[in-house]
Amino acid sequence: MGCEHGVICKKCGHRFTARFGGGLTFHLLHCDRCGKERVVWFRELGELHLRYLKGLDGPYCVATTNHDRWVQENYPGEPIGKEEYLQGVERFAGKCICGGKFRFDASPRCPKCGSDDFEMDPDAPMAYYD
Ligand SMILES: [Zn+2]
Ligand SMILES: [Zn+2]
Repeated sequence: MGCEHGVICKKCGHRFTARFGGGLTFHLLHCDRCGKERVVWFRELGELHLRYLKGLDGPYCVATTNHDRWVQENYPGEPIGKEEYLQGVERFAGKCICGGKFRFDASPRCPKCGSDDFEMDPDAPMAYYD
């Protein structure tokens, strides 16, 4: 689901590793100002994540099928839709020390100059995590 890749900043030429997407057990958000990463574990979300699972038609992911089905059949809370869930996760992630907000659609930024304009580094291997 998520992957990380070495990239080169088009502005200053700095090479860094950018991570995209979340994993099986967490979400990966970025600050909409400085691009800092914020990892939010599903278990930290508690009720919010359970309510989202309950609202799904099937499992969130094949690897978590048993757990997700158990939640769908046994969790007594009200299900919520994706929009509401994503907003809830962003609210949970809160604010970055720079004053920006952690968001799903914010992209990683160059740690040196803050630019979000970068290209894939052809010499860096693509790595997938779960
Ligand atoms: Zn920030
Ligand atoms: Zn840069």
